[in-house]
Amino acid sequence: MSRLDLHLHTTHSDGSCTPTEVVNMAHRTAVKALAITDHDITTGIAEATVAGQQYEIEVIPGVEISSILNNSELHILGYFLDWQDADLNGRLKTLRDSRHRRNPKIIERLQGLGIDITYDEVRALAGSDSVGRPHIARVLMDKRVVTTAKEAFDRFLAEGKPAYVPRELPSPTEAIHWIKAARGLAVLAHPTWVKVAEPSLVDLVRQLKADGLDGVEVYYSTHAVRQTREYLSLAQQLGLLVTGGSDFHGVTKPDIEVGIGKGTLHIPTSLLPKMKDAAGFL
Ligand code: AMP
Ligand code: ZN
Ligand code: FE
Ligand code: FE
Repeated sequence: MSRLDLHLHTTHSDGSCTPTEVVNMAHRTAVKALAITDHDITTGIAEATVAGQQYEIEVIPGVEISSILNNSELHILGYFLDWQDADLNGRLKTLRDSRHRRNPKIIERLQGLGIDITYDEVRALAGSDSVGRPHIARVLMDKRVVTTAKEAFDRFLAEGKPAYVPRELPSPTEAIHWIKAARGLAVLAHPTWVKVAEPSLVDLVRQLKADGLDGVEVYYSTHAVRQTREYLSLAQQLGLLVTGGSDFHGVTKPDIEVGIGKGTLHIPTSLLPKMKDAAGFL
C-alpha cells in the first residue's frame, strides 16, 4: 500500500532528522512520493532528492511559509516551485532574518525567568539558518528545564505564554504571491490550526483562492475524521486541489511518524497527478 507525505521538516529548519534520514523513514512506511517543506528555506531539497533516487521515491520541492492574518498565523505550503529561484530565496532570507530578530528576545524573556540559556546555544543546536521555537524547546529539553517540547510550548513559547514574542510575518496574500512567482502551487496548511469561526473558514479560503491559492491540506496527522471530511468538501466546493502530509518534525513531535502520522494517516497517491497537472507537469 503506497502513500504520499507532502509535509516534512528536516534539520534544514526545525526538524531533528536530516533529509536522508527522512527519506529512509519514508521508504519504511511505503511512501512513494514526498515533499520536503522546511520553514523559510529550500536547502534540504537537494540532499533529499539524491536520497530518494536510491528507493525510487519522488522528491517534490516544497517550502512552508508562516503568514499572519488578523493576529493569527496561517501557514502556506508551496509545491513544485523553482526552489533555486533567486527572488524566492531572497524573500525566504528576509523571513529567516525576522527569526534572528525575534529569537534573541525570546531568549531574553527566558533568561528573565531565571533560565540559563543563550542564543548561541540555540544556533549551535539548530545548525541551520532557519531557527525556530522548536530549537529553543530542544535546548530547554537538553537542559532538563522541560521534559517535552510540548511542555516548553505550554509553559513558555506558545502564544500568550511568558516567553512568547511574535515575529514580523507576511500576509497570506504575499506568501501565496511569492510561491506563485516561483511557479509553485500554493496550499493552505493544516486548516485545523486556522483560528476562524467555523462558518467563515469557507469565506477565508474563497478569499485566498482569489489571491491564487491552489489547494488545501485536507489530510493531516491531527485532523479528526470529521475534519478531514469537512476540509475535503470545502476543497471540492471551491474547486481546490486536495493535499496531505504528516508535518513530521522528529523529536519535537515524537508521536508523529513519516508517512503515517499518528498511525492512521493515509494520503492517497491519486492526489499527485492532479497536483502535477495543475503545476503544468503533465
Ligand atoms: P516558529 O516557526 O519559530 O514560530 O515555531 C513554530 C513551529 O513550532 C510550528 O511550525 C510547529 O512546528 C512548532 N510548534 C508549535 N506548537 C508546538 C507544540 N505545542 N509542540 C511542538 N511543536 C510546536
Ligand atoms: Zn516546524
Ligand atoms: Fe505549519
Ligand atoms: Fe510544518
